[in-house]
Amino acid sequence: MSDPAYSFLAPSPKPTLDRASGRRGDKTFLAQRLDAPGARVIALVGTRPVIRSNAERTAATLAAFSPEHCPGGRPTLEDLIFLGIRAGTEDAIFARSFSPDAALEADPSGTALAPAVDIRSLAMQGVLPLEDLAIAATAAALVGWQETARYCGRCGSATRSHEGGWQRRCTACDLALFPRTDPVVIMLVTAGDHCVLARQPAFPPGMVSSLAGFIEPGETIEAAVAREVKEEIGIAVSAVRYLASQPWPFPHSLMIGCHAEAEHAQLIVDPTELESARWISRAEVRGMLETTAPEAPDQSWVPGPHAIARWLIARFAYADIDQR
Ligand SMILES: [Zn+2]
Repeated sequence: MSDPAYSFLAPSPKPTLDRASGRRGDKTFLAQRLDAPGARVIALVGTRPVIRSNAERTAATLAAFSPEHCPGGRPTLEDLIFLGIRAGTEDAIFARSFSPDAALEADPSGTALAPAVDIRSLAMQGVLPLEDLAIAATAAALVGWQETARYCGRCGSATRSHEGGWQRRCTACDLALFPRTDPVVIMLVTAGDHCVLARQPAFPPGMVSSLAGFIEPGETIEAAVAREVKEEIGIAVSAVRYLASQPWPFPHSLMIGCHAEAEHAQLIVDPTELESARWISRAEVRGMLETTAPEAPDQSWVPGPHAIARWLIARFAYADIDQR
C-alpha cells in the first residue's frame, strides 16, 4: 500500500535534495557552490523558517535569498548550514539562522525575515510544498541541535561547526558531536476487527491516537514496542512488525511505525501516561478518520495527514493489512 498522506517528511524514493554528504567537509566545494549563481539561502529566525505566502495564507514557499541579497549581508560559510544540492541541478541550498536580535538588526523594517513560522505549524497547516517542508524540517532540526551543542560535553570548551554544519568539534579536545535523532516507536495494537486508540492528557479535546514511546538504549524496535504497550495498556503483544517511518523534527525524532497483535483483550491503562484507552472497531475508526477536527464536543478524531499515526490507523481501518 502506498499512501502519500504520511510522507511529507519521509524520504521519497527520489529525494528532491541531494545531501551530498560525502562533500560536506570539502570547503572548496562548498565555497564554489555558494558562489554559483543558483545558490540559495533559506532563512530561519531561531528554528522558525521564514516563508512567503499569498494573502490568504493558503499557499506558501520558503523564502530563498541569493547570497548577495541575504539580510545582514553576504554570509560566509561559517554562518551557514549546507543542506544539499537540488536534484538535477548544481544549485546548492544553505540555511542561515538569525537570533531574534540579529534578525532585528539585519532587517529593521521586519519585511525580509518575516513571517517566521514554527515547523510544527507549517506541517499541520499543509501550506508548504512537501519538498520545502522537508528542507525546512531538516534546517530547523540542525539549527536546534547546533544551539544545544555549543559546548563540549567532555571538557566544557566551545565547539566549532564542521562538515557544512553537520558536525561540531571541540576546540580544545577535538571531541566530535553529531546531530541527534531520537528513535520513537509508534504502534497500532490490533486484535481481529478492533484496534486500541488512546488519549494522552496533552492531546487536544477529542483526539485519540496510537500508542508511542521512546526506544531506550540497548533495546530493539520490537522490544520497545512490547515494553511500551505493556506499560501503557497492560497488554502483551506478539508479531510486532515494522511498517514505515517518518522524520518528526519536533525537535529531532524519528517515528518508527509498527503493527502489533494483542495476545489478550483486557486493558489496564496506566493513568500516569494515558487519560484513556479502549478497543475500537474498524467501522468506528472509519468514522473517526472522516472527522477532521473537533466538529462536536463529544466526537473523537485521529491526527491529520501530517502524522504517520493516521497512516497506521487508516491502513487498519480500510483492512489493507497485508499478511506477509
Ligand atoms: Zn572538549
